[in-house]
Amino acid sequence: MQQACFAALRRRGNARRQRVVQTFHEEQAQDGGALRRFAQWSPASFRQPYLNLDDVHAVQLITRLRMDLRGEDAERRRPHAAAHNMRALDRIDDPAHRPCYLCWHHGHVWARETGAHVSLHCSHPAMVAARALIRAELTMLAQDPEVFQVAPPPPDFRDDSVLWTVLMLCVSLGPAPVLHLVAAHEGAGGFVLDVARARGAAAWLRALSEPWVAAIHSPRRPRPPHAYAGARVFAAVAGQVQRLWRLRRRLLRAVPAYRSRALDPGRGGPAVARARVGNKGFTHRVMKAMFFFLICIVVISFIAFVLNVLFDGWRFLMSQSIGGFYDC
Ligand SMILES: [Zn+2]
Repeated sequence: MQQACFAALRRRGNARRQRVVQTFHEEQAQDGGALRRFAQWSPASFRQPYLNLDDVHAVQLITRLRMDLRGEDAERRRPHAAAHNMRALDRIDDPAHRPCYLCWHHGHVWARETGAHVSLHCSHPAMVAARALIRAELTMLAQDPEVFQVAPPPPDFRDDSVLWTVLMLCVSLGPAPVLHLVAAHEGAGGFVLDVARARGAAAWLRALSEPWVAAIHSPRRPRPPHAYAGARVFAAVAGQVQRLWRLRRRLLRAVPAYRSRALDPGRGGPAVARARVGNKGFTHRVMKAMFFFLICIVVISFIAFVLNVLFDGWRFLMSQSIGGFYDC
């Protein structure tokens, strides 16, 4: 009887919590506040499985990325004005309107910098290599004998729909319905999700993640939670998120067009970017040399002026001292 009461109270409490959270998310999505993206991607209140990973740095990065607090999204899509420690960049609400500076820098290819593009289609060689690495890691994990015992036949991770579904479910949407995922990302950057393949990937991942999450919440643990296959899959995806984030940030530092955001909407697009990049040639270097020469002349003149003042002051003091001595 007691357990039945507790179960009923828990069910009613969870239902009430879901209604409150859903109302809050709807308000955030309509207001366009800082939590808008987070609210759009979190249809319900539940503890995301990736929060149970041992790598706290990866968990922190994923959570901040989901809430637009790190990376390009933080600079581009914050609704409020740029803070004192942030650059004042034009806000771009839709990532599909944001150009990929890596594709442009590598092969002068115009692409939209959506999440699907960065994770699946970016043509920069380093991004292609990172993508191949996570495909190989997931394929190797899927061949584990333990995975064959608890999960359905593994999907083909060479398929973009499969890889995208696993990436998104591991770091963002959790066990949310795949149709929600389809509605959120269909057509973004020209990528259309294959629903049948996505469903297969979601079922495979759910079969792995549920024993892992159950082991975390169970007081009787036959083995540590990180030894479960689900934990290894989530850890591999979290590592991929870290890898892509660091790689993109490091590569973009060497892209002149990115520093000036020359490809952004309203700045002229590729033609202007090409012109600005082209100006970085001989004329640009001559201008920099002349500027450096002028700065050197100003600094040397200032030092000479200061030394002259000090020397004149010293001579004046010495003459006063000698004069005073003779006066005595
Ligand atoms: Zn790209």
